Amino acid sequence: MTVEEAVALARHTTLGTGGPARGFARPETLDELREALAWASDRGLPVVPIGLGSNLLVADAGVEALVVKLGGELAAVRVDGTRLVAGGGAANAVALHRARAAGLGGFEFACAIPGTAGGGVRMNAGAYGSDWAAILVRARVARADDVVWRGPDDLGLSYRSSALARGEVVAEVEFQLERRPIDEIKRLVAQFQQQRKAAQPTNKRTYGSVFKNPEHELSAGRMLEACGLKGHRIGGAQISPRHANFIENAGGAETADALALMVEARRRAWEMYGVELEHEVVFVGELELPPVQR
Ligand SMILES: Cc1cc2nc3c(=O)[nH]c(=O)nc-3n(C[C@H](O)[C@H](O)[C@H](O)COP(=O)(O)OP(=O)(O)OC[C@H]3O[C@@H](n4cnc5c(N)ncnc54)[C@H](O)[C@@H]3O)c2cc1C
Repeated sequence: MTVEEAVALARHTTLGTGGPARGFARPETLDELREALAWASDRGLPVVPIGLGSNLLVADAGVEALVVKLGGELAAVRVDGTRLVAGGGAANAVALHRARAAGLGGFEFACAIPGTAGGGVRMNAGAYGSDWAAILVRARVARADDVVWRGPDDLGLSYRSSALARGEVVAEVEFQLERRPIDEIKRLVAQFQQQRKAAQPTNKRTYGSVFKNPEHELSAGRMLEACGLKGHRIGGAQISPRHANFIENAGGAETADALALMVEARRRAWEMYGVELEHEVVFVGELELPPVQR
């Protein structure tokens, strides 16, 4: 297991921004993962697991941490009866493909979520009325000193969040699915994909929903649209003209541009609706949103 230095994280985020990681490891087995965690612990460095970087905003200055991206065995998927067992680094697309081939339904909603099984646990990812919490049986979580199986209650899965502590790495996830005809699975996936295409930018570099939906009759997207933000651009980043809760890399974007758009969006939502929007995207490195001006 080697640790690379100064790896540019822009190559590992869907937005395509972000500076270098102090260390970057790609463990392929549980032993290698434990070695990586020990490497970081010996140096007093925090650990940041990443999946496909589809919900990450990484500081342009980079991050003083060991970034861990799972591969090999830790990104493999198998079916065991009606259970789908996915490595923490397994792409949702691969897991869905396996489930469909085995005639197992319940994971179709994940066709809309371009991340991994492990990233989905951390975020309790969800769409179309379902989420990780609805199908997760247990997850194997690695820390510097142990590896333990944890159930849904212990993982504290709630709307786009979990109780996973910083540096805890999901190495494996077991999902409980149900038998479903393959044609029905295909039909559901096609329907979800069509709905996505109609409502969101699917061919641009984004990091998914920028803000969580507030407790308000308007969703974050509708609220920001009413604030006149669709198409608003700062530097190389732009609020999507299709959906105001998405920020696109419109060419040469930096994280600072996306962050500036988020500051402006929060300011306007506060001024028009008295709502303080909370970001869904995960910040990596020294990044912060200033409090809204009251
Ligand atoms: C076009 C688009 C559409 C999207 N639609 C949706 C949607 O409908 N619903 C939804 O919920 N999300 C959506 N997202 C956001 C994103 O895909 C999900 O949050 C996804 O679960 C993130 O997975 P990831 O593997 O890319 O994680 P990353 O973005 O790499 O990381 C996200 C967080 O998970 C942590 N993490 C990653 N891997 C692990 C691991 N193995 N162990 C522990 N922690 C880990 C990271 O440290 C970070 O805190 C969308 C994103 C895009 C770009």
